[in-house]
Amino acid sequence: MALLALSPGCGWAADLYLVNGKIFTGVGEPAAQALAIQGGKIAAVGENGAIRAMARDKAAVIDLGGRLVTPGLIEAHGHAGSAAPTRQAAMPNLPWPGPTPEEAIAAITAAARQGPGWVSGEIGPLAINDQRDWRAALDAAAPANPVMLQVWWGHGTLLNSAALKALGVEDTASDPLGGWFGRRADGSLDGRVRENAEWRLMRARDAAQPPQAFAARYSATAALYAGWGVTTYHQMLNNQALPDALAALKISRPTIKWRLYGWAMPDRQIADAWDQFAAPLAPVDRVRAAGIKWVLDATPIERDAHMSAPYADRPGWSGRSNYTDDQLHALLAGILAHPGQQAALHVVGDAELARLMDAMEAAAPPATWVQRRVRVEHGDGLTAGRFEQVRRLGMVVVQNPLHLNPMPDERGVPMMSARLGSRAPAFLPLKSLLAAGVPLALGSDAGGPPANPFLNIMLAVIHPTAPGEALDREQALAAYTSGGAFAERAELEKGRIAVGMAADLAVLSQDILVVPLDALPATRSLLTLVDGEVAHADAPFTILKPALSAP
Ligand SMILES: [Zn+2]
Ligand SMILES: [Zn+2]
Repeated sequence: MALLALSPGCGWAADLYLVNGKIFTGVGEPAAQALAIQGGKIAAVGENGAIRAMARDKAAVIDLGGRLVTPGLIEAHGHAGSAAPTRQAAMPNLPWPGPTPEEAIAAITAAARQGPGWVSGEIGPLAINDQRDWRAALDAAAPANPVMLQVWWGHGTLLNSAALKALGVEDTASDPLGGWFGRRADGSLDGRVRENAEWRLMRARDAAQPPQAFAARYSATAALYAGWGVTTYHQMLNNQALPDALAALKISRPTIKWRLYGWAMPDRQIADAWDQFAAPLAPVDRVRAAGIKWVLDATPIERDAHMSAPYADRPGWSGRSNYTDDQLHALLAGILAHPGQQAALHVVGDAELARLMDAMEAAAPPATWVQRRVRVEHGDGLTAGRFEQVRRLGMVVVQNPLHLNPMPDERGVPMMSARLGSRAPAFLPLKSLLAAGVPLALGSDAGGPPANPFLNIMLAVIHPTAPGEALDREQALAAYTSGGAFAERAELEKGRIAVGMAADLAVLSQDILVVPLDALPATRSLLTLVDGEVAHADAPFTILKPALSAP
């Protein structure tokens, strides 16, 4: 490439002129043929002839061969998982229904026989919903090894005595803010650890890992996502403290943009959660601390999403809130006091959503909240009667269609109907939310390895539990791009292919707007650009990679 221009932010990016493509410019908008990238930004969008004429160096003109070009996808909700090199017990039947308690215990016994050290295992609803004394059961299976079993959806952990000891948890430990320990009748811990209690302990266990361990994980995550055309990743940062994540990302130097939502794990009072932003954070290319993540309730799988009526398969039980009313008020006061730290709130149950929004309206006028742009992570329980309130408060819903993957519960009934009964079809609204004017972004909620955004899009355009709530493909693509940019308060800089926007885009292997639905998950990006720089290139665009990465 002869023409090089300084890309603002991070190094050099060549000017590029992409012609003969099908360029997605927005829902219901006509596709463009070509676009020009100068200085890492989109300089022009239009017809082939006009764009070609802008290129002084014809080597910078790239023929797209008619392929679809989309704005770079924004994976608006992911978790990176653990980087601790613990021995993994082999568990059957994951994810659903997962091992029986007996199978889980047998797997732990076998793993413990291999020698000392931590043993981990993934479990499903069958084991976590079993009410036995798990600490005693795991002590018998592995008396000397610290054992940590965790459900694959992140809301439920079981520990044995050696693990509690290794993590410094005494029987007299009080519940941390936003979490709790299961207890026996005599008050001693029974090994069940939930919500902020479990995440604090996971983070404490993993904090012994060197930053290189996390850096390797983050690099692999960036490479996989770039291969799917993802140019920004929103990490819900449960696994590391914010400064530690930045140290790991500084080593990793991710090829895609990275937005960190630092997990709220306050020590003594709610306001402590913002201490993580108090010290100046070391700047890292493409990485930004975007906000703070709170988890207000859990999920229907373990029946702790906070619902307004009892679960269909557990009479008398409607789930729970992780925070008291006083704590919720302090939390909202903190959000109002820290406008620079956007709030991302995991809220699933209809009762918790109603409680949150009513408390927001009591705390400040809607116009104030509109400026904060509070994110509802999931929001599955939003019902039509509350859509107007969500819109009025200027919230954005970040939804995860992968949760619609139809999976049976422990009795073979589809989980949503088992837990929610007649409420199931109204759960996880998509199309009606958009119709009500509520901004929507999409993410995977992947708990470890990255998840395929095109599988996620496929589920959004099928909506297996309520086909009437399915998005059309353009809506799903917009939610994954401009919706994600809006969700991180960056809609003026990226998320659309328009003049002045960051040149974050993907040339896809097939036209996701027309291929058969079941072909969607096979989609790959052949060329992924981040601020005009190549983050990923496959044939026929591999030639661009060495040319562009040279300074
Ligand atoms: Zn969540
Ligand atoms: Zn999540």
